[in-house]
Amino acid sequence: MKCNKCGYDWGDSGDSAHVCGVVAIKKQWVGLSPNDLIHMPYDHGFESDALRDAYRQGVLDAEAKLKEKNT
Ligand SMILES: [Zn+2]
Repeated sequence: MKCNKCGYDWGDSGDSAHVCGVVAIKKQWVGLSPNDLIHMPYDHGFESDALRDAYRQGVLDAEAKLKEKNT
């Protein structure tokens, strides 16, 4: 058996009395807001809608990948 909070493995000893010092601290994923997406390409000076859209798509892909890795 493993503690689902800290990963401590008490094996087959049946030590379910493990007192876990880890409070569940898993932070919740906070994604980019629509407002972030609208403004970010302007912050980088992209000068056409096509470039801004391509940038946004890349940002969304990166965000999805990071979320997959971290949640
Ligand atoms: Zn624990």
